[in-house]
Amino acid sequence: MPLIDGYGRPIVNLRITLTHKCNYKCIYCHMEGEEGTFEELTPEEIERIVRVAVKLGINKVKLTGGEPLIRGDIEEVVRRLSHINGMEEVSLTTNGSLLKEKVEELAKAKLKRINVNIPSLREKVYKYVTNSEYSPQQIIEGVIEAKRLGINPIKVNMVILKGINDDQIDEMITFTKKNDLILQLIELENVGVSEEIYSKYHVDVSSIEEKIKLEAENVIVRRNMQNRRRYILRGGGEIEIVRPYEDGSFCSACTRLRLTADGKIKPCLMRNDNLINLKDLLRKKLDDYELVKCFVKAIEGREPYWKKKITP
Ligand code: SAM
Repeated sequence: MPLIDGYGRPIVNLRITLTHKCNYKCIYCHMEGEEGTFEELTPEEIERIVRVAVKLGINKVKLTGGEPLIRGDIEEVVRRLSHINGMEEVSLTTNGSLLKEKVEELAKAKLKRINVNIPSLREKVYKYVTNSEYSPQQIIEGVIEAKRLGINPIKVNMVILKGINDDQIDEMITFTKKNDLILQLIELENVGVSEEIYSKYHVDVSSIEEKIKLEAENVIVRRNMQNRRRYILRGGGEIEIVRPYEDGSFCSACTRLRLTADGKIKPCLMRNDNLINLKDLLRKKLDDYELVKCFVKAIEGREPYWKKKITP
């Protein structure tokens, strides 16, 4: 049974930032709401923390960054975590640049699912947004290989940016449908990005969602995923709309804790003033009970950031 916070939310997900390093410099990157560059946790340390989390009812882990595939030991991290008793699913979010070369080992390590960030299928736009040398074609080759190896589902993350890629949604829908991928259309969040970038590129995705609704034969509300809506299109294709609902409905469905790159529990994407440091405990060689106490404290202290519509 998972632990439940003071607002009735079961805590079943852990999102782990493995590194702040990245081979891209996406113009909109929110860095998972984290700050600075730090010494990273080792695979052993990550495993120890996650073992405790799993004992407390967490059964899904998502690895993120920076770029998680940049870590030379990523396969080891995935293997260690996916073999913990009680772990249901280890997934990762990646820019996909190193996917083709690493995916075979990742599949062997029992990686279940992937989110891959593809802001555009057009080379020029892709390079502009990501400030990288990679082309979308290289990413697609990795995605196709992942699919062949049985990693499923694979979701394509597309952060919608005004005047940059908001005219390319139809071609992304065609691409994801053809390759049996789930498309996530993500509204730009005002976290970790400058006011200038936000005001220049932010698009309210409601009008896009309205259009998609018309094409849909079914809609699934994903209550365990912040009430995210998944549209099943007539004639095939699945699209999720990811909105930074700035009200209680977003927070009320949040079942997630975060672990920062430097080993702190972060109860909320939006805050950095209530972190709990585990790394120091690990390095002082304290026993698991101390880690359990930290998780319990983090969960007890969880508060919805957008409190308007949530009641305990
Ligand atoms: N490097 C990996 C990647 O590119 O996916 C993992 C880290 S990245 C911070 C994780 C995801 O966050 C990206 O795929 C992107 O969809 C999303 N993201 C980053 N900045 C965002 C922002 N300002 N608003 C909305 N989503 C954002």
